[in-house]
Amino acid sequence: MGNLLKKDSKYWNDWRWQLKNRIKTPQGLKKYFKNLTEDEEKGLKLTAEEFPIAVTPYYLSLADPYNPECPIRKQVVPRYSEIDPKIQISCDPNALEEEGEIPHLTHRYPDRVLITLTTMCPVYCRHCMRKRKVGKPERAITEEEFKPIWDYIKKQNQIREVLISGGDPLVLSNEKLFHYIRQLKKIDHIEVIRIGTRTPVILPQRFYDDELLRFLEEISPVWIVTHFNHPKEITEEVSLAVKNIRKTANPVLNQTVLLKGINDNPQTMEELFRGLIRIGVKPYYLFHCDPIYGVVHFRTPIEVGLKIMSHLRGRVSGLAQPIYALDLPHGKGKVVLSPQYLVKKEGRKHYFRNYEGEIVEYEF
Ligand SMILES: *Cc1c(COP(=O)(O)O)cnc(C)c1O
Repeated sequence: MGNLLKKDSKYWNDWRWQLKNRIKTPQGLKKYFKNLTEDEEKGLKLTAEEFPIAVTPYYLSLADPYNPECPIRKQVVPRYSEIDPKIQISCDPNALEEEGEIPHLTHRYPDRVLITLTTMCPVYCRHCMRKRKVGKPERAITEEEFKPIWDYIKKQNQIREVLISGGDPLVLSNEKLFHYIRQLKKIDHIEVIRIGTRTPVILPQRFYDDELLRFLEEISPVWIVTHFNHPKEITEEVSLAVKNIRKTANPVLNQTVLLKGINDNPQTMEELFRGLIRIGVKPYYLFHCDPIYGVVHFRTPIEVGLKIMSHLRGRVSGLAQPIYALDLPHGKGKVVLSPQYLVKKEGRKHYFRNYEGEIVEYEF
């Protein structure tokens, strides 16, 4: 690895170099990570066959080579737990089939539609809920595949928003990305474009590309929704990426996934969300981890998420509070989860629990 992780490489800040030099094999990861656990050793042998591996040199450089508990390491090194039939039990493999009849398009809510433009991501996150669909093979959609997506959106004039989700749209060449977004913006009833991308976190160099920044400014506002899971991910490189996006007059929001062993405690989440608002990113969702084959070992009980939300309330700026939600199976939509603050009602008397746990009577 040695040279590959030398940040003084004159190419380190070039996103294309970062993509080209991704570590994509078990051997590549073994050169970087020391004292592999049995779960990791076995994962590199067996899991890697089923779910792809990839990590940018930049994101890998944040991982601790020696400590198996490192939150970055856990997001990139495959483990046997991902395919262990004793752990990945009773998952309905079709429970999260999202797509309807048009490939790469999911229309669940009336006013917005989710599309994907590629199967490729810079990093294959071990906790990815779409892990069965990404990376094998890595392929952008063709103009012929985009046509029915565009036609559908054009026909349905209740659709106001297009959410371009992952595979990560920002791995596309500028030319392709700009083309598809310009096409979508040509549709009169499309008021909002949202891009779901993890590149600010795992490939911040993408936002050192002036051509992309000029385009983002041209099409502003486009809502950039990214995916931080741990305070360790908030680096100088990332702050610069976020600053560059914000200079283009576009808002940056974040979705975190609640992950066992990575961020499943109030202190880590507090540090993460405080860190995000410090660099100008608004925490939007905290998602409960879905019961999908391959990610079950990252799940926590709902109580863990609720405890985190109670901890944040009142102690941490309201700006730093995400919405805690889970996705119902079979495309039934997202449900918001919240601690109960209205604890009792007697006639006009309402009893509320405040952030300090005190019960307060309020009559109205
Ligand atoms: C999550 C999701 C959306 C976006 O939902 P918001 O609550 O607006 O963030 C849109 N479509 C699908 C299919 C989704 O799963």
